[in-house]
Amino acid sequence: MKRTGQYDFDLFTIGGGSGGVRASRVAANYGARVAIAESGRFGGTCVNVGCIPKKLFSYAAHFRDDFEDAAAYGWNLAEPGFDWKTLVANKDKEIARLNAVYERLLAAAGVEIVRGRAALRDAHTVEVAGRSWSTRHILIATGSQPQVPDIPGKSHAITSDAVFHLERLPARAIVVGGGYIAVEFASIFNGLGVQTTLAYRRHRLLREFDAELGTHLGEEIQKKGVIVHFGAEPASITKLPDGVLEVAYGDGLHARAELVLFATGRVPNSKGLGLDAAGVKLGPIGEVLVDAYSKSSAESIHAIGDVTNRINLTPVATAEGMALAKTLFAGEPTAMDYDNVPTAVFANPNLAAVGLSEESARERYPKLQVYKTSFRSLKHTLTASEEKTFMKLLVDGANQRVVGAQMIGPEAGEIIQGIAIAVKLGATKAQFDATIGIHPTAAEEFVTLREAASS
Ligand code: FAD
Ligand code: NDP
Repeated sequence: MKRTGQYDFDLFTIGGGSGGVRASRVAANYGARVAIAESGRFGGTCVNVGCIPKKLFSYAAHFRDDFEDAAAYGWNLAEPGFDWKTLVANKDKEIARLNAVYERLLAAAGVEIVRGRAALRDAHTVEVAGRSWSTRHILIATGSQPQVPDIPGKSHAITSDAVFHLERLPARAIVVGGGYIAVEFASIFNGLGVQTTLAYRRHRLLREFDAELGTHLGEEIQKKGVIVHFGAEPASITKLPDGVLEVAYGDGLHARAELVLFATGRVPNSKGLGLDAAGVKLGPIGEVLVDAYSKSSAESIHAIGDVTNRINLTPVATAEGMALAKTLFAGEPTAMDYDNVPTAVFANPNLAAVGLSEESARERYPKLQVYKTSFRSLKHTLTASEEKTFMKLLVDGANQRVVGAQMIGPEAGEIIQGIAIAVKLGATKAQFDATIGIHPTAAEEFVTLREAASS
């Protein structure tokens, strides 16, 4: 084996998505010689077929509420029309701009860009299209891909990868799943005027979240027009002679739509990389198993982001990338802190949370106090909207620390991001109460919740 200094690179990153790009740039800024291989477009899932185009679509869908609400405020609007092709074209322009920004940032940091699908030849050699490079460390940052249930006719359905490039919007859509992507795209389709059914095999959305949030969001999206079909697990999909898709569910019911979107989870991209031969151990769904410092079972091979299936969010992948660069090249071993990672689901209305769900908090804190409120926001006192904003604070009664905060309502993600700082700092309920509200806002409710609902 070559000694340090004899390698072509100090770090060779496979995958130019959220995590890989950040780790590579930061490592190069610490003085490491870095290369990055990308088989698709720089920016990865988040930039190309994830967070960014999804949020742009979500903005587009929210306009429908604005048009409807505007009349109560005295605006006379002509019947609004929507053009899908304009939205997709404008979105594509922005994504192309971001792809270029990512490449420029890498080049400016001195990272060598290699285009193509990479694989490991051994624990210190990476190969792309017949060329190979030696490297002291290898970083696997290859992300994940959609998984679909193995049922007859599954090829008639699409996944979130294709939804960003549809030629036209369908008249009817069936979205299968009850997690982040299903709920977000049910709201997007519905807002854009598609007759939308959300088909979920259980009876409460967003299983990983606080139960009350899942229940409340289910009610809210139905008020907006999404048809929610609980207990519905697709058994087959048939294409009818007129091109319409018919989904047969396990419960014997059938439904028809022009489009079926599977939002049924994702699996790590760890196949075909030569990981096994290099001594890298994988978990049950193919995730790269790593220690607290993102090191795999092979000394020179590290992994971050979705391919490790820890918390599959962009800011987590980038934070893991920064921590790894510090560990390897700044002499500062840095373990990622997974406590109090805030998250948002960009449904309509938005949902966001930080800290524990009530169910987990009850297990951990016997003296849990729950503060919550549900109200019609000031804006909707004039409109016909039935939307209710929901907020909840979970407090450990033993020391008064806020251990969870949840919200469903407009801009919940923006509001919970601020609350997350307080929760991360270990703020107490008394400190929330001592904070003066900003009036009139919805967010001020978080500092004026006085009566514990249960303890
Ligand atoms: P990725 O960003 O997926 O990057 C992996 C890269 O590796 C890809 O570019 C791929 O082409 C490349 N690659 C794979 N194999 C190879 C190979 N052998 N050789 C070379 N290159 C390779 N997260 C949020 O925080 N907020 C959101 O709002 C949000 N919305 C989302 C919406 C959708 C529809 C989806 C699917 C995901 C969303 N996510 C969101 C999750 C987020 O996109 C991921 O957690 C994040 O992109 C993971 O980053 P990563 O670096 O691990 O992988
Ligand atoms: P999730 O894991 O969030 O949800 C998958 C859903 O599919 C679950 O409701 C699951 O049901 C259901 N499901 C799984 N298998 C089947 C099956 N065979 N038949 C029917 N239903 C099935 O995955 P997503 O695909 O929604 O998103 C992937 C990840 O991407 C998220 O977990 C998140 O980390 C990230 N993401 C983040 C976003 C954000 O930050 N706003 C937005 C989008 C994605 P069950 O509950 O019964 O298991």
